[in-house]
Order: sequence, then C-alpha cells, then structure tokens
Amino acid sequence: MQSPAIKEAFSLLKQLRQVMDDTGRVPEKLSHILEIISDKMQADAAVCYVTVDDNYLELFASCGLLPDNSRRLRLRYNEGMIGEIAESKRSLVIDNIWLYPKFASQPELAEEKDFKSFIGVPVLQWNRVVGVLALYNFSEIKRSQEDVELLETMAMVLAEILLSEEVSEYKKLLIKARGLSTKDKIKGLCLNKGYGIGVAVVHRRRQSVTNIFAEDKEKELRRLEIAHHQMNEDLDAKLNSTKLGIGEHVDILDTYRMFAKDKGWYAKIADNIKGGLTAEAAVERAYEDMWNRLSQSSDNYMKERLHDLRDVADRLQAYLSGDYNRAVDVTAKDIIIVAKTMGPAELMDYDYTRVRGLILEDGTPTMHVAIVAKALNIPVLAKIKGVFSEIQSGQTVAIDGNEGFAYINPTPQVEADFRKKIAQKEELRKKLAALRNLPAKTLDGIDIGLYVNVGLPMDFDYIETTNCDGVGLYRTEIPFMTSDTMPDVEKQVTYYKDLMDRCGDKKVIFRSLDVGSDKLLPYWAYAGETNPAIGWRSIRITLDRRAILRKQLRAFLLAAVGKELNIMFPMISDLAEFEDAKETLKIELDKDKCKGQPLPKKVNIGLMIEVPSVIFQLDDILPKADFISVGTNDLAQFIFACDRGNPKLSERYDVLSAPFLNVMKTIVDKANAAGVYCSVCGEMASNPIEALALIGLGYRNFSSSGSAFGKVKSMIRSVNTEEISDYMQLLLKSTRDSLRPQLIAYAYDHGIEIY
Ligand code: PEP
Ligand code: MG
Repeated sequence: MQSPAIKEAFSLLKQLRQVMDDTGRVPEKLSHILEIISDKMQADAAVCYVTVDDNYLELFASCGLLPDNSRRLRLRYNEGMIGEIAESKRSLVIDNIWLYPKFASQPELAEEKDFKSFIGVPVLQWNRVVGVLALYNFSEIKRSQEDVELLETMAMVLAEILLSEEVSEYKKLLIKARGLSTKDKIKGLCLNKGYGIGVAVVHRRRQSVTNIFAEDKEKELRRLEIAHHQMNEDLDAKLNSTKLGIGEHVDILDTYRMFAKDKGWYAKIADNIKGGLTAEAAVERAYEDMWNRLSQSSDNYMKERLHDLRDVADRLQAYLSGDYNRAVDVTAKDIIIVAKTMGPAELMDYDYTRVRGLILEDGTPTMHVAIVAKALNIPVLAKIKGVFSEIQSGQTVAIDGNEGFAYINPTPQVEADFRKKIAQKEELRKKLAALRNLPAKTLDGIDIGLYVNVGLPMDFDYIETTNCDGVGLYRTEIPFMTSDTMPDVEKQVTYYKDLMDRCGDKKVIFRSLDVGSDKLLPYWAYAGETNPAIGWRSIRITLDRRAILRKQLRAFLLAAVGKELNIMFPMISDLAEFEDAKETLKIELDKDKCKGQPLPKKVNIGLMIEVPSVIFQLDDILPKADFISVGTNDLAQFIFACDRGNPKLSERYDVLSAPFLNVMKTIVDKANAAGVYCSVCGEMASNPIEALALIGLGYRNFSSSGSAFGKVKSMIRSVNTEEISDYMQLLLKSTRDSLRPQLIAYAYDHGIEIY
C-alpha cells in the first residue's frame, strides 16, 4: 500500500506531465507548471532558471513575479542564491533572505528583492545541474524537510520536461533571441590527439526516470533481479568476446564488471524498492546517495569510480526499461560520440572501429573512458561545457584533437581541410613507418641515440614498432597511477620485467617514482598545496617515505637480474639529495649481495636535470653520476617560473629562446667535458624543430614519445650537425623572445624535414 503522502505526490507529478502533453505554446505551459507547483507549495512566486553554456543560468519561466525590468535574466553560477544552488548542487532554504549574507551583500542582483522567504532546489539530469527551481514568499515562513523533498521530487519531473525535444528547441530559440549565440567551433581539453570527422551520435543511453513510486514491491524486486542478471550476463559476453588485446584498458573493463556485480550496491537498490520506489528510481537514489558521499571526497580514485557507477546505473536502468540494445545501432560509417560523461563500457557499446572521435562535457586525463579510447586510437576532446545540448545527433562534427577544437556542421571548406589532413596524416604515417629499419644518422654521418619514453603498457608496442635504441625514460609512476592500490614489490617486478623482456638487449632507463604535482595516486590522500609543482613531490616524497623508494629499488634489482640496470632519480635539487638516493640504492644492493641473491650485471645510476639549482652544481654532481637526462618540461617551467599546466601561459615563453637554449648548452657542454652520457627525455625531444636546435647545441641522445619517434628520426636523417651547430652559435646571441621562426626558416632552406 502507498502512503497518502506518496499518493498525493504521485498525482501531482501526473498533473505536471499532463500540462506538457496538452497542446499550447511552451512558455505558457511552463508558467502553468510553475503555477501548479507554487500553489501546491503555497508560494507567492516561482522561477525556473536553466543552465546555458559556460556556467550561466538564464531565467526560463516564472509565475507570480512583480513586473520588474531590473530583474536579472542571466546569473553566473555561484551568483546570488540561485547561482549558489547551481554551484553547490544542493537545495537551499532561507526563512528571511534579508538576513542571508549572500543576498544582503549583493542586493543589486535584484533576484528576490520583493520577497522574504526562499526555497530552491537544483534541477538535475545525470546528476548535473540543468537548472534551478525556486519559490518565493512575501512573508517570512518556515519550510520543513518534507517541503524540500517534495520540491526536489517536482524538480525531477521538471528535469524530464526540460529534456524533451519540444522544450530543448524552445530553450535554443530563447538563448538565440537573447543574443547568446550557439557556437560552431568550440575549444576543449585534448585527452587524446588525432583528427576525426563523422556524424554526431549524442549518447543518451539513460532514460530519465519517469515512474518514481511503485505499489507492488515484490514485482519491482523481481524486475530488478531479472534486469541485473541479464545485464551481467551480457557484459560478460561482450567484454570477453571483444578483441581488445591486452593492456591497462582491459584491466579497467574487468574492474568495471566486478563493480556491476557488487552485492552492496545491489542490496542498497533493493532497500530503496522496499521503501516504496520503483526499481528505476531505486537505482537512481542509490546512485545519488553514493554521489553525495563520494563527490565530496578528495580521493580521486573514488571520484573516478563515480563515472563507472553512473555507467552501471544507466545500463541497469536501460535493462529495466527493456529497451537495451546489445550494441548501439548506428548506421553511419564514421561516428563522433558526444556525451556528458561516459563509463568505459559504454564506449564499447558502439562499434569502435567506426568511432572517429569522442567529445565529453566532463572528463579528466585519468578518466577510464579516455584511457580505453586512447588504446583504441580514438581522438578525445573533453571539458566542453554545454556541448551535450549544443550538438544534435546527425550533425556533422569534426574533431581536431591536436589543437583541441571541435567544429559543429563544419563549412565545406573546413570539412575538406579535415579530410585532407586525415589523408595527409595517413600518408605521413606510412612514410615514417618506412624509416623503421634505417639508422638515426645525420647527413654528415653522426649517429644519434633515439629512444622512446614509455608509461602505459600500450606504449611498450612502440619498442618494436619504432625499432628504437631502447627506453630512455620509463615513467614508473604511470602503473602506480592506474592501479587501484599501491603495487607491492612482486607486482612491480612483473611490470619492470615485462618491459626488460620486451626490450631484450636494448637499454632501459627506469625512473624512480615521480608522483605529486599533477601526477596523483588515486589511493593516496594529498594535502592541498599552494604550489604543488614546487611542493612535496617526486624524489622529495620518496626520500621522506623511504619504504616506497626501497621497495621500488628492490623491484628494479629483481627485475634486472643478469642484465644492465639503469636507474634515474627525478627532481634532484642538489648533490646531497642525489647522494642520499644513491645510498638507499647501495643499501638495497648490499642486502641482495649478502643474501646471495642474483644481481644485475651492472647498475648505472643517473639523475634528471629538472631543477635549475643542480645546473649550478654539475661540476660536483657529474663525477658521481653515470648519466644524466634533461627533463625539459619541468626544467622550462622552473627556468621561466611558468606553470607548465596553465593554458593561459602555454605560449608565453618559448624554449627556443636564448635564455633556455643557453642553459641547455651549459648542461651538454659540462656533461661532454666530464664524459657523462647525456640525453633529453622531456617534450623537446619529441618536437622535431626543438630537437633540431638541441642537435645544434651538441645533444646526441633523445628519448621521445613513441608517436613522435618517426618525425624526429626523419629530421635527424636530413640534418647536417656541423651546419646547424654554426647556426646555433649565432642564435644563442639573439635577444628575440622566440627563435622558432628562424629555426623553421632554416629547416626549410636546408631541406630538413620537420613534420
Ligand atoms: C620532464 O619534466 O621533462 C619529464 C620528462 O618528466 P615528466 O614530464 O614526467 O615530469
Ligand atoms: Mg619532470
């Protein structure tokens, strides 16, 4: 039996839906809905704001407001009380707004100046704010918890209404009429490079929950059981049969499957059903509870898990509604998927051989769907606010994953340019692949050591495909970052041995754990630091948490038994730090010797040159180092005092300028004088024009990303070292802020290939 309160809510929701089903113009119907809500909640006025691009809210519908031309139609998130609800995603009740600091300090917003009491709730779709519903009263009244819950339930229906095609169209017209044009070229954050063009498929697997309360609990529990069972069976079949190869993306999909079978989550949904909800609403409530708990957490691992949970919840709801297709039926040959956010398994619902790009409103580089997309070579653009409502299924969309742009309905010219770029890229790929078995030798016969940087297991393929000289940088933090827990020694040995085996006799340089700053371990709590790039990171952490370093060094020694082992310490700031790290390695090595443990054939110890202070101590450090490798990414950020992750600064300073190049010259000159092996493993080694300048300064070893390897090799094979050295002597004296144009012109004039 349903309680009277549930029955009443049920009939109210029916009434609201009925209004939308009636004929009539959208604005009047929306006002009517607000009137019903106002009436039910005994309010004097009601407003509905909707979210538009870039964290803005537009007044969408209202009732009972006094005519007031000064009322703001547009509010930013966190502006006023409406903005506060949108920002916090939480309901807000204020008995007397004149005593509320946020209102009192910004009365110019004029959003509620005629009233005294306020109650507002976020309108959520997929747990994202799509609007705010708020009520006002002229007199001071106290709202109860039941009032809040009732308004939240009505907001669920409003969310469903806002999603309808009729209302979406009206919203677009309104936004246009207010001069907030929709865009056709949008900037996003690039999570995987590449070009793609195709027909947009707006990913809307999830149906919004329309039936909230159920009378027959047993029936709902049975529906849940059947849907849950079917979903897991299908997931097992799909993810087992997909030819995904091996790698971290497969681990992600396996973890996801375990998640879908989680008993605790299932029990929570069943409990919600027992409380009177339909199975669909029970899944949603279980998700929201989890979201409320985990979204506040500073633990990134937990936050990433929320995406997986969203995916599983959507999937289960689709099975409950009976409209689940095993594979999403899309006919176009080339598709671009547009989603608010996505779980890794959702991407696999599409025929991924036809997916040419993925655009996400949300997204982080460590997001699971991004890792899977990368493994499948799909360009990914993320963090584009409003894109989900901006792009319609069927529109043509082009993604430039290199520059980070998406073009909606590109002009024939842009489309032609894209197709040309894609064809050229393919041609270049073939041309560079043909260099595979040719040496990295300059025109004047100088051999250049050309290595690859690796991190993810999928990077290991580059060792064979590029035919490189070895691995110049293994970023060991990457397997740590993509694990669910800190890998123990045994697990680490398998990672490191796997790499050693893949490399055979080729050189491998292991870098000790380089975490902190932008590289966070999901299972580790970080205290927020004001300046994380110069904070507690990298070797500073591992020297302070010595056990972590010792375990890693032990794993290196075990993985390299009988072979040459190269260990490099990152972010070393002075000789003492390097000696401290070396001493730790010596202790582990001595322990192994005492135990009679088989050892590596030879152990070389080096350091990264990333912190400017070590450059001033190179005369003392070089005699104690077997090799050095310049991390130009960090070094440049410290030399220019310029955050490498801040897009506002990304083009402000150029490594191709005399200050930085002179620093680079000092390093290589000193290493050469001391007879110490010196390489570059930062991004400069992956950029042909920058690597060209470095050859001119005397660098002879580079470790580049696998994807850039062919381009760098091609540059090397077309350069004359003596000539470029002479030219660099001139450039080093220049006071220009960038020498890039000069170097590019030089390359063209001398037939040097810089793709
Ligand atoms: C660098 O700083 O140049 C480097 C290679 O290290 P990472 O990019 O991993 O910080
Ligand atoms: Mg670095």
